[in-house]
Parts: sequence; structure tokens; C-alpha cells
Amino acid sequence: MDRQKKRQPAGRAIPRPTRVEPCDQCQAVLGLNYRDCANCHQAIERFWEADWQALLAHEQIVAELADETLLAQVVIAELDDHLWTIVDMAMRRIRCEECGQELGGGPIQCAACQFAFGNLWWHDIDAGRQGVMTHNEHALRVGRYVIRHPHRYSNAIATGWRMNMPRIVTGWLPPGQDARRYATILKQEKIMDWDAVYRKIDAEINQASDG
Ligand SMILES: [Zn+2]
Ligand SMILES: [Zn+2]
Repeated sequence: MDRQKKRQPAGRAIPRPTRVEPCDQCQAVLGLNYRDCANCHQAIERFWEADWQALLAHEQIVAELADETLLAQVVIAELDDHLWTIVDMAMRRIRCEECGQELGGGPIQCAACQFAFGNLWWHDIDAGRQGVMTHNEHALRVGRYVIRHPHRYSNAIATGWRMNMPRIVTGWLPPGQDARRYATILKQEKIMDWDAVYRKIDAEINQASDG
């Protein structure tokens, strides 16, 4: 495969939303219920899916056939040569040989999953240096793994990312200081009016979008 591939940007085939809006299906903020609502799931997953479908078309492979699994295995074997979205989509299609779960998404005790997951991030360091991956895209990638496999994280981390994802998808990044402060609050399970916090964030995002 093409060694230059990883130096190209990924996840940009479909324009990202610029506003935080409610989901037609579950009425929550779109993307919040990634695991439980098909529409929220799709609102996040489609940016990856678009790149994967383009690869299938390029390789002339029909989705859902054995060939697609084979392609996923090839991608994982050549991790460094592929776009991050493609690697993530390949991970989704492969079962871990040790635990039988989706690769990288098994129980935290599974060494094979831990290894596969740990290997993902070299690409981001590289792509960040090359200027083909933004901080927001890195956050989007990390966030998807957290909301996809929340059992691998503390409740505080999983909750924080889940709430942030519908905003990150619009290009927003949690301001560093706030993110740390909120993580601490989540960890200590202090009472906090999260609705108010996110209402304010959403208003800012949507105002910026309206120009
Ligand atoms: Zn929904
Ligand atoms: Zn595993």
C-alpha cells in the first residue's frame, strides 16, 4: 500500500456540523447516545465510514464480504501506512484473538487489546508533526474510542468524553483549564449543573456558527 497515505489528512470527506443540535431520534444532543441511538451513532461514525467506503471502492471490495475482513487484517498488519480513520474502521472489523471482542475493545485485562490500542497513537504524533492532523481531529479519534469502549475507562473519564463528543464533532476543543477542572469535579462526583455548563458551551458554538 501507499506509504505516503498516512501523510494525508483523514476524516474530512464529509463536512463536519458547525452547530450542536438535538437528535431527531432520541432528542438528546446529537451524538451523545452513540452506543444506544442509531442516529447518534451515525452522526459520529459517518466521518470514519466515508473514508472506509472510499477505500473499499478503490480496492473494488464489496462491504460485508469476507474480503472486507481480509482488507481490515491487511490494514492492521500495515498500521503505519494507513489513514487513522481507516485503521479505526479496520479495528472495528477485527475480533481480538485473545478475548474475542472487537480488537482494542475487550476487557482492560486483555493484553492483545491493550497492545493494539497502544499502537494506534504513533500515527497521531507523526500526523500532528506533519500538520495533517489537527488537535481537534486527535480529540475526535480519542473520544470515539472512549465512547465506544467506556468500560475501559474510569466513570469520570468516560462521562466527560461522552458529554464532550457532540461538541468536539463541531470542531470545538475543551479549553485546557476548564477540562482539568471539570475532570476533577467529575472524579470527585461533586454536584454540578452540567446542563448549564453545556448550554453555555452550545450557545457559544452555535453563535460562532451563525457568524
Ligand atoms: Zn440520538
Ligand atoms: Zn482482546
